[in-house]
Amino acid sequence: MEAQESQPLDVAAIREDFPILERRVGSEVTPGTIGKDDPDGQQIVYLDNAATTQKPQSVVDAISEYYTRYNANVHRGLHHLSQEASIAYELAHDRVAEFIGASGEREEIVFTSNTTEAENLVAYAWGLDELGPGDEIVLSEMEHHSSLVTWQQIAKKTGATVRYIRVGGDGRLDMEHAKELIGPDTAMVSIVHVSNTLGTINPVSTLADLAHEQDALIFVDGAQAVPTRPVDVEAIDADFYAFSGHKLLGPTGIGVLYGKKHLLEEMDPFLFGGEMITKVTFEDATWNDLPWKFEAGTPRIAQGIGLDAAIDYLDDLGMENVREHEELIAEYAYDRLDEFDDVTLFGPDPGPDRAGLVAFALDDVHAHDVASIMNDHAVAIRAGHHCTQPLHQKLGVPATARASFYVYNTREEVDALVDAIDDARQLFA
Ligand code: PLP
Repeated sequence: MEAQESQPLDVAAIREDFPILERRVGSEVTPGTIGKDDPDGQQIVYLDNAATTQKPQSVVDAISEYYTRYNANVHRGLHHLSQEASIAYELAHDRVAEFIGASGEREEIVFTSNTTEAENLVAYAWGLDELGPGDEIVLSEMEHHSSLVTWQQIAKKTGATVRYIRVGGDGRLDMEHAKELIGPDTAMVSIVHVSNTLGTINPVSTLADLAHEQDALIFVDGAQAVPTRPVDVEAIDADFYAFSGHKLLGPTGIGVLYGKKHLLEEMDPFLFGGEMITKVTFEDATWNDLPWKFEAGTPRIAQGIGLDAAIDYLDDLGMENVREHEELIAEYAYDRLDEFDDVTLFGPDPGPDRAGLVAFALDDVHAHDVASIMNDHAVAIRAGHHCTQPLHQKLGVPATARASFYVYNTREEVDALVDAIDDARQLFA
């Protein structure tokens, strides 16, 4: 407890807002165990936050209040409930704009299903019209599949070429290579802000400058950045910026695409149908104002309201405190894991360009076996390629184990992780 007192967040108080962290689980899962405590089990240690975070009671309550008090479709009804739902849904866009520093407010904030859909929206709506043979899309070797696969496919459809900024042995982007690659043929630079495998914080504003010097655009994948540090899309000068609500205490099913207003105005819609039109005839249609032009069909109303509540919660904690807490925990985890000779850690050493997640490999033990032994200790981590298969090929490992931390994690939980890894080492020795 003493170690917690000098910390930037009151973790003990925060944990009370997350009843799920009290769950006691066994290692076996059957349909009958879903949501039930195992009296002989152990208390869960949840270290899979880069995949998705847990939800505070206030977020669950906000969603529940929408469904129990003002559930209605938005923008379609003049009736009381529809107006309440519409106001709440629209205000959620304003809240997101404020949170990430978008001064164009709700017009620059499109709600999507997740980061992946935001990437696809831009790749299709902008890329299909703007790219052609001779154009280059510059990615990096540490991109998540949501960006890498999407741009690869758009390149195949348009005849454009994908080029990759090298990742150095230190887990950082080779910025000299970036300067060589981003040239007159570059049309789009799509870069992950914080790598979900290496933890690297990339110099996205420098990359934005490099792109803009060549009249190219930059798309920043902020899926791991927005949850963990203050982000200002205008200070970065990102043309597009995307993230997922479920990775920052919000519900699943909601993501955000920020786009500069003039770009979103120039782009054609991605999906067609109801809500996104102004006038329809048998021959043609005209498009609704931003951001609704990009939100076809009944939108993610409950999810938007839940995201608003999640941002409230994070704002109360203070994003600087969130960042500091996460980095302290991750650094502690990094140092403790570094004590083992047979554990390889990936990504930069702890420092200003390293975020709070740790991917590692245990000599001669597959990451899936590591995760399975962790599960026997009720420690939840992720094992696999984390949607960065080409990066893993480059690292020379088929898979890594990854522990990732958030506002409710403690040093004691890191100790539980380390004890479980020690068990795995001895089992396979
Ligand atoms: N980009 C990064 C860096 C991620 O870590 C993830 C998810 O793990 C994504 C994109 C995709 O997010 P989602 O699955 O919510 O679309």
